Amino acid sequence: MTVSSATIPSATKARILVIGATGFMGQFVTKASLAFGHPTCLLVRPSHKMHSKAALLKSFQDKGATLIHGVINDKDQMEKILKDNEIEIVISLVGGGNVLDQITLIDAMKSVKTIKRFLPSEFGHDVDRAEPVEPGLTMYKEKRVVRRMVEESGIPFTNICCNSIASWPYYDNCHPSKLPPPTDQFQIYGDGNIKAYFVDGNDIGRLTMKAVDDVRTLNKNVHFRPSMNCYSVNELASLWEKKIGRTIPRVTISEDDLLAAAAANLIPESIVASFTHDIFIKGCQVNFSTDGSNDVEIGTLYPDEKFRCLEDCFEDFVPMIRDKILGGPNDELAKTNNKSLLEAVPITAMG
Ligand code: NDP
Repeated sequence: MTVSSATIPSATKARILVIGATGFMGQFVTKASLAFGHPTCLLVRPSHKMHSKAALLKSFQDKGATLIHGVINDKDQMEKILKDNEIEIVISLVGGGNVLDQITLIDAMKSVKTIKRFLPSEFGHDVDRAEPVEPGLTMYKEKRVVRRMVEESGIPFTNICCNSIASWPYYDNCHPSKLPPPTDQFQIYGDGNIKAYFVDGNDIGRLTMKAVDDVRTLNKNVHFRPSMNCYSVNELASLWEKKIGRTIPRVTISEDDLLAAAAANLIPESIVASFTHDIFIKGCQVNFSTDGSNDVEIGTLYPDEKFRCLEDCFEDFVPMIRDKILGGPNDELAKTNNKSLLEAVPITAMG
């Protein structure tokens, strides 16, 4: 990440506590907080002393992060942590199953009275506007409970509504950006023409840190709507085909298919199916305007900040599927798509 400002923690930068630094989204925000030079504390659940994520935490420590062991659902402990470390900004990125753990955290922040900004674990859609079917709705109801509690507490807040992470939007995978787009078959939701916004994880982290102490984002929902990264599933499929130089068959996943996957109530897959339905059938990311008094758009706030384009984001996936597109022994498509694949894949992605 390139941040021109100091990477050395500065006394003038707000002291930040990140909760969920070991998580999928938390890693991006932690990286950005450190890169922006904020004195950054990471709340780490005690189990991580022996955990596989220890290496990740060590890498954050090496960049200046302070690790603090604790859990947010222990009020006394949280009060002490907030006071002892003179925390000014709290950014929570707890996962969907732990949203209500933030209630105790809010109580602790209310007691210490020194928190200048709280970013609750949102980092998706505007949960007051989107209305997915169950089981996703339950998570949104929980996020709404947290929103109302924060508003009532008087703690200054900012809700980050960053829309989708840049990746293929698999309907059964919580963390899609860890997987490359399909190489065997595209699953197209409905007619495939409903658009959504896709944002690189590092851009989410960087722009969150721009917004974190900006007076213009105080008590607002901050929407990420990069117009250049507004794609339908059909367009995503074409982008990927162009990138890897081959055509891939498309099958339709109908609205009923998505609703059935949601109704199966497999957690977390069905939650993702309900969000996929909301995004690509109902258009929940694009069917409202962000000109309400509680809304600000990140692109308007920071017009000089560039988003990484989706084409470049997809480039990252090419090395992950290199064996397939170069034609492994079991890859029938590679046999029928010819050596032009080699020419189509940019050399830069192969390194
Ligand atoms: P993860 O499940 O990947 O990580 C959750 C993190 O929170 C972990 O570090 C976990 O610690 C920590 N945590 C959970 N409970 C507690 C607790 N009680 N006390 C302290 N730490 C705790 O979460 P995600 O990154 O998937 O989700 C974070 C947010 O981002 C959610 O609001 C989610 O809805 C949203 N999201 C948005 C996406 C998008 O495309 N816009 C995609 C995915 C998520 P430990 O390591 O010990 O488990």
